[in-house]
Amino acid sequence: MIFTKTAEEIEIMRESVLSVSRTLALVAEYIGEGVTTAKLDKLAEEFIRDNGGVPSFKGYGGFPATLCMSVNEQVVHGIPNDYVLKSGDVISVDCGVYKNGFHGDHAYSFKIGEVSEEVSKLLRITKESLYKGIEAAKGGNRIGDISFAIQNYVQKEGYTVVRELTGHGLGRDLHEDPAVPNYGKRGRGSKIINGMVLAIEPMINLGKKNVRQLSDGWTIVTADGMPSAHFEHDIAIVEGKAEILSTFDLLEDVLLKRGMEIS
Ligand code: MG
Ligand code: MG
Repeated sequence: MIFTKTAEEIEIMRESVLSVSRTLALVAEYIGEGVTTAKLDKLAEEFIRDNGGVPSFKGYGGFPATLCMSVNEQVVHGIPNDYVLKSGDVISVDCGVYKNGFHGDHAYSFKIGEVSEEVSKLLRITKESLYKGIEAAKGGNRIGDISFAIQNYVQKEGYTVVRELTGHGLGRDLHEDPAVPNYGKRGRGSKIINGMVLAIEPMINLGKKNVRQLSDGWTIVTADGMPSAHFEHDIAIVEGKAEILSTFDLLEDVLLKRGMEIS
């Protein structure tokens, strides 16, 4: 069942989502070579709680941390640990914040040090595919139009779309209907209507589309061990158009100030 949101609820959600954007900007201040993912996770949790929020992911289905941190061949749901980030790594940082009864949930793939041209391009195209999906999220269209726009854009570059995980509705629950697959056919699926709030999140592989789960019960990795990229925005449908509630501007401003490359 799809729960559409009132204008008032969307205003409340905007604050939850911005809390995520601000947390990702804090991560951007500290991320880099020599830093462990566990340290970034601790900083993020403190920041969220200091600002009156609760980490959405911690305890969700038993997930043990605030951030999902997925390095290189890890697609999503990586658990922060003592891994030390090194030059050439790419890492998806996914964050959820629960505040005033609603969740925000978005993600960015960061580049650490010198990243190969091939992997930089994977990140750039994946990020662009997210905006292609958002462009297709408008009144009169269906969820399949978003899915098709993402798949069509990345497959032109020879990349593959992860099938097992999807975007989703967002609201009082972290994962609501409808599912928003990153592959599919135009004109299929639920109608896009005013008041829908969606988390759109392409997960795109450099190699084959197949994934598997590690024995930790969480981390999803590519079956062929090749890199994967992940970006996520939260949008609300207002007057037939997608309004992006989340922003990468805060974290990208921080990266640029630090002389780091944005994705
Ligand atoms: Mg999500
Ligand atoms: Mg997410």
